[in-house]
Amino acid sequence: MVRPWSVPSTSPLACNEALRGQTRSEMTGYQAQFEPAMRAALAEASAAGDDVPVGAVVLDGSGAIIGRGRNQREATADPAAHAEIVAIRGAGAQVGNWRLEDCTLVATLEPCTMCAGALLAARMRRLVFGADDPRAGAAGSVWDVLHDPRLGPPVEVLGGILADECAAVLTEFFEGRRQGGTQ
Ligand SMILES: [Zn+2]
Repeated sequence: MVRPWSVPSTSPLACNEALRGQTRSEMTGYQAQFEPAMRAALAEASAAGDDVPVGAVVLDGSGAIIGRGRNQREATADPAAHAEIVAIRGAGAQVGNWRLEDCTLVATLEPCTMCAGALLAARMRRLVFGADDPRAGAAGSVWDVLHDPRLGPPVEVLGGILADECAAVLTEFFEGRRQGGTQ
């Protein structure tokens, strides 16, 4: 079985709205400014242990990291413990406010419907993500929750940031599990 995130970044499936028609070398300076935050999210993903390696951070209006999360579903037996949810909860606790209006969610994988919904619930204005998720992505791949006018003003969505590295972490994880005979 081919995992969705093993789709080459040149595939039409892997193109997202923000980067459609662009190659990596055409990444703009605006997009590139989020690479350090994406590396922090990648570090979270890499520390996910037995969980599927997805990581996320939340940036405040100045770009400082105020929340970090990694997928912890297995570790905590919590079906809602996706990296994005953990990071958003951490950010709310950090600032003492559920409203994260000037904040940016940075995630290594395109968020699912639950996490996109949490971003909206926190009134966040921007999503930055790495690899597309053609199986369950809610930021343009399967659904486009963040651009649905029924849910409020559109959120800025930037996909494809360090996409190859974000996808590689997932691909290596699943290849390792297959080789380990645990799947
Ligand atoms: Zn999710």
